[in-house]
Amino acid sequence: MSALTDLIYAGSNAVAGLTEGAVNDAIAKHGAETPVAFPDTAYFFPTIYAATGVKVKTLGDLPACVGVLKSLITGQDDIGQALNAGLATAVGAEIIEGLKYVGGGDPYADDSGIGFVPDPIIRSLGVPLVTGDIPGVAVVIGKAAEAGDVAKVVKDYQSKGILTFMIGECIEQALEAGVKMGLELRVVPLGHDVTSVIHVVTVAIRAALIFGNVQPGDLAGLLQYTKDRVPAFVNTFGPLSEVVVSAGAGAIALGFPVVVDQDIGDLQVPGALEAVLNHDETAKHSLALRNIKIKVKELPIPVAFAAAFEGEIIRKADMKVEFWSSKNTTCELVTMRDMDAVEDHKIVVDGPDIDSGETEYALATYIEVAGAKMQKDFESVIERKIHAWFNYMEGVMHTGQRNQFRIRVSNDAYDKGLRMRHFGEVLYNMIMDEFDAVVDKCQVTLVTDPEKATKILNEEAMPAYNARDDRLGSLTDESVDKFYTCILCQSFAPSHCCVVTPERLGLCGAVSWLDAKATKELNDAGPCQPISKEGCTDEKKGYYPDVDRMVHSATQGAVEHVSLYSIMEDPMTSCGCFECICGIEPVSNGLVICNREFKGMTPTGMTFGELASMTGGGVQTPGFMGHGRHFISSKKFAAAEGGIARIVWMPKELKDDVSHRLNATAKELLGIDNFSDMIADETVTTDAEELLNFLTEKGHPVLQLEPLM
Ligand code: SF4
Ligand code: ZN
Repeated sequence: MSALTDLIYAGSNAVAGLTEGAVNDAIAKHGAETPVAFPDTAYFFPTIYAATGVKVKTLGDLPACVGVLKSLITGQDDIGQALNAGLATAVGAEIIEGLKYVGGGDPYADDSGIGFVPDPIIRSLGVPLVTGDIPGVAVVIGKAAEAGDVAKVVKDYQSKGILTFMIGECIEQALEAGVKMGLELRVVPLGHDVTSVIHVVTVAIRAALIFGNVQPGDLAGLLQYTKDRVPAFVNTFGPLSEVVVSAGAGAIALGFPVVVDQDIGDLQVPGALEAVLNHDETAKHSLALRNIKIKVKELPIPVAFAAAFEGEIIRKADMKVEFWSSKNTTCELVTMRDMDAVEDHKIVVDGPDIDSGETEYALATYIEVAGAKMQKDFESVIERKIHAWFNYMEGVMHTGQRNQFRIRVSNDAYDKGLRMRHFGEVLYNMIMDEFDAVVDKCQVTLVTDPEKATKILNEEAMPAYNARDDRLGSLTDESVDKFYTCILCQSFAPSHCCVVTPERLGLCGAVSWLDAKATKELNDAGPCQPISKEGCTDEKKGYYPDVDRMVHSATQGAVEHVSLYSIMEDPMTSCGCFECICGIEPVSNGLVICNREFKGMTPTGMTFGELASMTGGGVQTPGFMGHGRHFISSKKFAAAEGGIARIVWMPKELKDDVSHRLNATAKELLGIDNFSDMIADETVTTDAEELLNFLTEKGHPVLQLEPLM
């Protein structure tokens, strides 16, 4: 037997023994009927569910799983068999970790790790992964001989936008060396026990179930999906135990290469298990193994620039200066000019720079662009990116947009030399990089002089915002001659295609009709292609021959018919990264809408995660549909079934967020004032019967509508 398979089997057998003991103990202590579940998931014990179809619900379900686990450990001297033993280790780790959650409570409350990653987080990662904003996923495990080595590797990943999950004492090592952690910073500590590695494994596995429509029990389909579509790899630090080696075999079975920092001689398996002793090479080598290409942006600024800094928060104590609309004039505007009115790469700072000694400044960020293919409609598309680009600067925080924003610059960034003209360089370089197909020339003026900034706000920005709002208001599905497909999410959800119309943005909430139109202009053969509106066969339900044709071809034949306005008949497919899901509530005949952030129960008896699992992966499930937040106030929301009059329940936060626009739509379509007051939320009830009573009391219009089914 080879030394490698030996080690793997030894590790798997050790984990099998531990798992069996732990299951027996738990049953003896709590009883076989005791429920066991990970928090906030619709996928039970995800590894077991995906691999076998078994839904673990109680401790009594586990002994059979231990049996399956043991059967995977054949002891045969064959690398394929040994990788199966690696999967057995994953199953064992899942059970051991799952047992920590018996009795509710958060077993990770006192750990610096977070443990199990809830479904909504995985869904929220969909868009950044498909856009390449997160180019890959690193799993860092163990304890390095030198703490600095871990920190160096993790910071390198962070600067490249890689999402890093950490397991073991390397977490403390990285923290001590100043690595900032948190999901928004792309470094996620999972836990200290080696078994907590399962929490990243189940992220990959649930991605297959959520986005890939992989059927539970289809182990081969599962392994193919993770190998092809989840760009993950593993780095181990420090000496390798048998358990780590067998867990590594599990990773390899899923298609994730493992890079170790120990001399393992001829145990190496090229492309799957490799040793890199020099930590300066770890990241580069790991990325190459997974064929992850990083687009480096070398900008002429003194601070780092990466998507990983987008979520960075700058507290008052760390702040050098601030631009804030509550204190001073602020506005940001992209405006289109004639070619000769723009001097390319001209950057002007008009007014005091941030080293003038003040801590608060006005700021008008005034960007003029020109280009042969530039269109007025693209101004807002470019302008909306300012938020992300400023946030990508390490030590800069930007919130808000238009004339309502707040920017903070940290002491640290200031000390590194960051000044106003660097903001201009960022804008210039990013616009020329991302919008080069439409922008030929760009000039940036940063006005900190309060009077001049106010003049720009009043004379340029406000009229432009108003004109744009009027344009958006007049953009209806009827007023345009094209819709667009979006298939960005196909890298995860191969049979999903969004149809984006003026009154229905992409279900991720990130792609409006204007965005799709700009995407087509920027990338002719790209993810957004025009759909002709000709020959509409059913206006109410929204059936168009070209919608069917385009979706059919975009999904390689997986989807035949899509209606734009019905949720009961050929509803639009969902990938999995939707902001909200709506589903029928049979007692009231209405629709419940739930957003990804809401953790509680809905009157359908399902949580967001459970509702969300009803659709996704390109599947059409009548009665359930993913959609963006903005769609809720659209006149086209479930228009075929009575429109917004069907909405009976939403989480309060969501309702408050959309009520202004929703009430305006309700006034126009239904003649009802303050419609949002008729919609229940969790503070009213999460019980279907009580919901019906509430709706009756309020005279909710759903009660006049025909049954949905
Ligand atoms: Fe994905 Fe649809 Fe959003 Fe495009 S519009 S990124 S396909 S969810
Ligand atoms: Zn998606």
